[in-house]
Amino acid sequence: MKAVIHWFRRDLRVSDNVALSEAAKRAETVIPLFIFEDAFRTGPDVGAARLAFLLQSVESLRKNLAELGHTLIVRCGKSEEILPTFAKEVGAQCVFANKRYEPYTQRRDERITGALLKIGVGFEMFKDAVVWEEQEILNLSGKPYTVFTPYSKAWKVKAVPAPVGKIGPRKAVSGNYPSDALPASPDAVGYPLTQKIPAAGERAALELLRKFMAGPVYSYATNRNFPALDGGSNLSPHLRAGTIGIRTIIAELNKAKVKAVDANAVKSCETFLNELIWREFYAQVLHNFPHVTKGAFRPEYDKLQWSDNQEHFVAWCEGRTGYPIVDAAMRCLNATGTMHNRLRMIVAMFLTKDLLINWQWGERYFMKQLVDGDMAANNGGWQWSAGTGTDAAPYFRIFNPVSQAEKFDAGGKFVRQWIPELKDFPDDLVHQPWENPLLLAKSKYPSRIVLHEEQRGKCLAMFKAVKG
Ligand SMILES: Cc1cc2nc3c(=O)[nH]c(=O)nc-3n(C[C@H](O)[C@H](O)[C@H](O)COP(=O)(O)OP(=O)(O)OC[C@H]3O[C@@H](n4cnc5c(N)ncnc54)[C@H](O)[C@@H]3O)c2cc1C
Repeated sequence: MKAVIHWFRRDLRVSDNVALSEAAKRAETVIPLFIFEDAFRTGPDVGAARLAFLLQSVESLRKNLAELGHTLIVRCGKSEEILPTFAKEVGAQCVFANKRYEPYTQRRDERITGALLKIGVGFEMFKDAVVWEEQEILNLSGKPYTVFTPYSKAWKVKAVPAPVGKIGPRKAVSGNYPSDALPASPDAVGYPLTQKIPAAGERAALELLRKFMAGPVYSYATNRNFPALDGGSNLSPHLRAGTIGIRTIIAELNKAKVKAVDANAVKSCETFLNELIWREFYAQVLHNFPHVTKGAFRPEYDKLQWSDNQEHFVAWCEGRTGYPIVDAAMRCLNATGTMHNRLRMIVAMFLTKDLLINWQWGERYFMKQLVDGDMAANNGGWQWSAGTGTDAAPYFRIFNPVSQAEKFDAGGKFVRQWIPELKDFPDDLVHQPWENPLLLAKSKYPSRIVLHEEQRGKCLAMFKAVKG
């Protein structure tokens, strides 16, 4: 082909990028395009942290492409309108892109295919963001899995393809096409950035991966549960923006596993792979059961009578529930756009099973705040915690916020970092400051807005009412 447009979406990188590599192989000229969609600033889930991460990732992509002699063209507007016009402008025969899995993007991509076909331009999409797509891992009856363990077993039987490498320098001159300016920051489009977000871009992602595989991966299985230890890879914002390829991560993990010195280190590597598989599990759930974006995976749970207490919801969002582990986690989210996995489970269980608030409220709040906010993983995590999802924790499994905190933040290092009001509390009371009412009154830290022991019973009754 003479000219192909590579449309960058959630694949903001030059290495291990399937569609980009194919374009580089098959076309004389590749024209790299990024569309700053109207929806990036008007969609219901837009959040400053994720937007900032996206803008910085695009900037870094621009530099990485320039080093290879390519000029990234940016257009702002609606992809459905921009792509046919741009394809005509540059004389492209085809648009290449990596596949997206959310139902709304798939509907949009179908419309784009039609619009491009009308003007004789092809639209080819490639599997890139996941190792195995929604129809590639099915059970013996040819149906999608709805439970993680058998899914992960089937996933592991298949050989993971190798990374596709970095594209080479530009082969032919692609012309001088005008480019729109990206907003300088989320503030410029009405989303003031108050969070301190992690470093964005492909280089930052590869550096995180290198550091993680050089050591922390070997103690991941234990350290990942303790918020104060930062035992995870922190790769989720990069996987979300596509500043790192999944095949690259798995190839590096396999290399690290070979170097593991004992059984625990091997187990840690396997635990890490399992988490990557959870990501694919939820991606296939979203695709195969798109109703999860609108309600419970198990429809009977759409009848749950949530309390939906607005004041309680605001207290949860702002980290003022009186439960230190919940409040510290929410304050951390609000300040950084990130939250540790264990804490996500704790705050999600607390919202749904202590405050009895609809999980969809929490799902929406997370999407607005999270730098890694991903429809599939977020929906899966919320439905799991609420007990309404595929592989859900059974509804009667209710985390006790105090015992969770004592187990995973013994001594309160994490909690103290985010709740200065608790600085004078001794270690044994830092997770239940109400046990010393005088000190609590002096500290200005809020009293509990609900009593866990009471709410637990109400929650069980709420679920039993729909389960019969
Ligand atoms: C209520 C709730 C909401 C969540 N929302 C999101 C979200 O919007 N985006 C998101 O990427 N993850 C989400 N997760 C999953 C998980 O909390 C994050 O992926 C993890 O905390 C990211 O940190 P990390 O990169 O250090 O992960 P690691 O522990 O290093 O794991 C490696 C990668 O595996 C994937 N992963 C790990 N755990 C999960 C999981 N449970 N489900 C799906 N993928 C997983 C992520 O891509 C992650 O980067 C959510 C979990 C819960 C309980």
